[in-house]
Amino acid sequence: YSIPKPYNEPNKQYAANSPERAALDGALSDLKSKLPLQTPRWSHGQVNSWEGKTASVPVPSKHTQSFSDYPCLTATDVTHAIEDALAAKEAWQDMPFTYRAAIFLRAAELITTKYRYEITAATMLGQGKNAWQAEIDAAAELADFFRFNVAIAQKIYEKQPTLGTPGHHTRNDYRPLEGFVYAISPFNFTAIGGNLVSVPAIMGNVVLWKPSPSNVYASSIVYRILLEAGLPPNVVQFLTGDAELITNTIFEHCDFAALHFTGSSNVFRSLFAKAAQGVVTHTFREYPRMVGETSGKNFHLVHSSADISSAVRHTIRAAFEYAGQKCSACSRLYLPQSRAQAFLNVMKEEMQLVTVGQPEDYSAFLGPVINQQSFQKISQAIDEANKDPDIECVIGGTYDGSEGYFIQPTMYVARKPDHWLFNRELFGPVLGVYIYPDDHFEELLTDIDQQGGGLALTGAIFARDQRIVELAERKLRYAAGNLYVNCKTTAALIGQQTFGGSRSSGTNDKAGSENLLMRFVSPRTLKEEF
Ligand code: GLU
Repeated sequence: YSIPKPYNEPNKQYAANSPERAALDGALSDLKSKLPLQTPRWSHGQVNSWEGKTASVPVPSKHTQSFSDYPCLTATDVTHAIEDALAAKEAWQDMPFTYRAAIFLRAAELITTKYRYEITAATMLGQGKNAWQAEIDAAAELADFFRFNVAIAQKIYEKQPTLGTPGHHTRNDYRPLEGFVYAISPFNFTAIGGNLVSVPAIMGNVVLWKPSPSNVYASSIVYRILLEAGLPPNVVQFLTGDAELITNTIFEHCDFAALHFTGSSNVFRSLFAKAAQGVVTHTFREYPRMVGETSGKNFHLVHSSADISSAVRHTIRAAFEYAGQKCSACSRLYLPQSRAQAFLNVMKEEMQLVTVGQPEDYSAFLGPVINQQSFQKISQAIDEANKDPDIECVIGGTYDGSEGYFIQPTMYVARKPDHWLFNRELFGPVLGVYIYPDDHFEELLTDIDQQGGGLALTGAIFARDQRIVELAERKLRYAAGNLYVNCKTTAALIGQQTFGGSRSSGTNDKAGSENLLMRFVSPRTLKEEF
């Protein structure tokens, strides 16, 4: 048997008057006519009616409108979901790999064909992404994750001992974990939920999946597609409702075997503490695997030898695309004194073209932030910064929450490299700039390494001088899990750049890598003599 060679799904361009734009607009109107969208309650692979409590989230760009409602499961519902998943485990892990693989490959086809516009439209309205950002996420990257994870799994299964002596035979058995995997996905990428679930499931695990409330609806489309693609009922359980209730119920179960998480460092820390508690009290059958990709305070470092206009364009995209709501977004910028004014001049000019607007507005570069809580956190930081005598606002510095959660792209220059602007993750379109004396480049590398709030996800160096690139790569060895040279900190492409960070940015198991899939496997070595 063979698995088709994976490839990166080409992005649709949504040019004016194109059939694809018409199709997307059609999907948007259809969804809008049904607001608030109802997130179903599934059990045993079927949509069941829901009589219990529900919760809802607003449209981030028009918050008077409700975007979707979802069921709030009770602790008993969660316990039943765990039992149903465990009951499905044996048949799932016994299913030959190629059959499991076929489900995810079929799901990738369904995403990129039949459901492409529906899932892209749901991601636009629910997350406040523009068409291109939503397409990259919910159509292309989601399908890529399914296709590449299948190919990575196949490579793992093929890894068998190559040395042997006559009379015996040794085999590696890549067993799924004993128990179930808990996947918690974030609001900012529909694709990430697909990755968090498919990685353990492809390796034969059953998965309890709790998507972020702010992305419940698009995630429910992913779940529906997986079922349509042939995922046996109960292998993945879709859990919605109160995060704490769901998590506590799961962490009380002896078969909790792993966490697969993307979200903030603080939440990951508290989950680690809960898991540690269960280990100490012998609640769990085995030591749970804790896999997390968390926050970032990522930097662009511009050297005096850099191509300034290219560095500006990359910075605008990394800091402001999708309103800075990517873990990989750039929020610290370091400029050399000799080129700082030139950089700022080009930046101000280019920023005149950067507009904020509704996700359905094809001329808007960025949309709203996700919800009231996030809007409040960022707008309070802007108020604080505007009053701070130690910093100067060079772009933006305003917000308007009257209709949607809109924050203007904002840039502050701070006089000290250890200002809070370089340490606090805001997850919004706010960029801190530090202008360094050109002859303090080595000291600057130490500052970059030490600042950033203990986070180390992504970073970028802009320089034409290759000696500088080499020096920075060496001195910033632990400052970023993904380090880019002459290109922005965002948009890792599975199959090309694995993705993840260390320190407080995560366990650095790297999305798109064999290592990540191996975290959800408990290998067994079999030796036979004859
Ligand atoms: N993988 C995405 C990127 O490289 C970021 C994912 C995230 O925000 O968690 O931009």
